[in-house]
Amino acid sequence: MMQPIKPVIGITSSIVNHDGIPSVNLHEKYIRSVTKAGGIPIVIPTGTEDMPEVWTSICNGIILSSGEDIDPHSYQANPEPRIQKTNEKRDLIEMGLVKNALNQKKPIFAICRGITMQNVALGGTVIQDIETNNPNAIKHFQQAARPNPTHEIQIGDDSQLFQILKSSTFRVNSMHHQAIDKLAPGLKIVAVAPDGIIEAVEGVDKSSLWLAIQWHPEEMASEDPAMQGLFKAFIDKCTLAKEKSF
Ligand code: MN
Repeated sequence: MMQPIKPVIGITSSIVNHDGIPSVNLHEKYIRSVTKAGGIPIVIPTGTEDMPEVWTSICNGIILSSGEDIDPHSYQANPEPRIQKTNEKRDLIEMGLVKNALNQKKPIFAICRGITMQNVALGGTVIQDIETNNPNAIKHFQQAARPNPTHEIQIGDDSQLFQILKSSTFRVNSMHHQAIDKLAPGLKIVAVAPDGIIEAVEGVDKSSLWLAIQWHPEEMASEDPAMQGLFKAFIDKCTLAKEKSF
């Protein structure tokens, strides 16, 4: 029997200066986690607005990856004093990917910046800096090594995240200073940190909006089978969506 063709997973990227030259940047752990889970990763750069439709059509699933802050202009706000580097062109491309993934019924897995980006793409807003906006905030930008879990999350039992992790609490790593503010229509909160910061959302219906999380499972995956399990569950979802489309 022939092996089924593996799903192609498009992963978005950022632009950083490497030796003074603007370069496409994606942490290699995303590639490793997707490959180990049985997907074929490809890196999506920042391009022009006609490209997301084509990229979506050649992919079986999309990962919105980590990186720059969301440009406040993308949700009609002005920058607050503690906003960090933004990239409006990347925001536009990723909003296009979300729109096209919904149209083409391709699953989205949104990670760190990705959860806030997906929320903005669907009409929500972003807390520009957690410490400025939440006096009770716990530490969300850890000094501990990147793969180490540092804070707890509470997971709603009526969620896919609960079904995958099989637990109502979990300890995750945390390397963000932004978070979802006003939740976009079509999304439901499925995990929160002890200070109320939204740590995971899913689609209300069984659409492309598979799972969006604020922590970094790609950093934890090599040491924590449950985190590698998130990538496996996503690849399985993409394989299913791919078979349904034929
Ligand atoms: Mn956090």
